[in-house]
Amino acid sequence: MEICTVGGFEEVGKNMTAVKIKDDVFLFDCGFYLPGVIELQEESNIDYTTAALRRVKGIPDDRVLDNLKWRKQVKAIFISHAHLDHVAGFPFVADRYPNAVIYGTPFTIQVLNSLVKDAHLSISNKRKIVEINSINNIHNVTKDIKVEFIHTTHSTIDSTFVALHTPEGIFFYALDYKFDDTPTFGPPPNYKRLEEIGKKGVKLAIINTLYSYKKQSNGSEKDVDKMLDNVLSVAHDKQAAVFVTTFSSHIERLNNIVKHAQKTHREIIVFGRSMAKYINCAMNVGKCPFYSKIKIVKYRGQINSMFKKIDSDRGKYLVICTGHQGEKNSILDRIANGATPFRFKQGDHLIFSSSVIPVEVNQESRRKLDAKLIKMGVELQKDIHVSGHGSRDSKIKLIKLIKPKHIIPSHGNRQQEEDLICITKELGYKLNETSHLALNGQIFTF
Ligand SMILES: [Zn+2]
Repeated sequence: MEICTVGGFEEVGKNMTAVKIKDDVFLFDCGFYLPGVIELQEESNIDYTTAALRRVKGIPDDRVLDNLKWRKQVKAIFISHAHLDHVAGFPFVADRYPNAVIYGTPFTIQVLNSLVKDAHLSISNKRKIVEINSINNIHNVTKDIKVEFIHTTHSTIDSTFVALHTPEGIFFYALDYKFDDTPTFGPPPNYKRLEEIGKKGVKLAIINTLYSYKKQSNGSEKDVDKMLDNVLSVAHDKQAAVFVTTFSSHIERLNNIVKHAQKTHREIIVFGRSMAKYINCAMNVGKCPFYSKIKIVKYRGQINSMFKKIDSDRGKYLVICTGHQGEKNSILDRIANGATPFRFKQGDHLIFSSSVIPVEVNQESRRKLDAKLIKMGVELQKDIHVSGHGSRDSKIKLIKLIKPKHIIPSHGNRQQEEDLICITKELGYKLNETSHLALNGQIFTF
């Protein structure tokens, strides 16, 4: 089993790992590095190109696979879940692997298809929608290699661990996850199957490093559910506008927000193209129970006329929108800059059901947004949120369940990866023997 750690081993984002078994190569994830992509957005508003994304290091440098002569052997691409740092790179590199079939769960493939469309690209790769908790043969690959998608909890729906069953043992891809035993949408993680896989023999696991340092648990979605119920009591003030902002791909969270928003007897308005995109993807796969409870307002003209209505009857509506990271041209950014017919007033409420992604560009833009909103007299309620990434407890539990022979930390910089190495040491792994630090583009043989 040969591994190429293509991307995501020196930073948070642009995840991609390649695995070679005899003459077949398999790719796992291909995501954006968001600070690079934001740099590009600030340069121009035109569609991204593969060359521009490579220049800003916004996608994994998969040209390493050409040097290795692996590229033409790529038979399949597996996508773990629908977040941009795992899937958004594919529309820009998929044509380099024309014979590879793309495998993913229903929501993930929906999101991929919509990203391809948004980028005004077309990709010729066949897409195979797999069921969650299913084992699949791989097109054009010997039957003794199979791929399994195992349900886990995270901060978007249809998230999975991906296990590649091979005659040499199992390769286990464990990127984004949090073990949430009390999820509010869908079942808890499939522990039973993880335990079975541990018994079968995992040769190598690539494991997400984020929050490895953190001793206390990152909490359950059930905790946020209670917090939302509490903070939305502000909606009783019929003189005040109420806005809630969250991650547009977080369908479970949106479902909880809508559930509590309904109790306020306000009309629920969802603003923005990004929200519309993910909600429609969830709807298309039958996972949007709140669809009939909301009104989605997507286009600029509709948004402006809705803003006028909200401005004149603040107590009638509750708005769900994007912009919690202070992103340029998001709904919140435009309101804060006075670029909409709606203006925040003293005593209006804005609930951040999110946390600031801890990279400089986000922290800075959020600081600026908060300052403008506070000046307008908006009451901010922050961090009505738990992370979708597990802390130390989730890492230990996973390692104990799947018992991998070797571990490579991923999805972090060197410091963050060392935090996971510390955990592996406590569990009896030895650095450079059974646990390994990787750089982008490095090759390992197991
Ligand atoms: Zn994720």
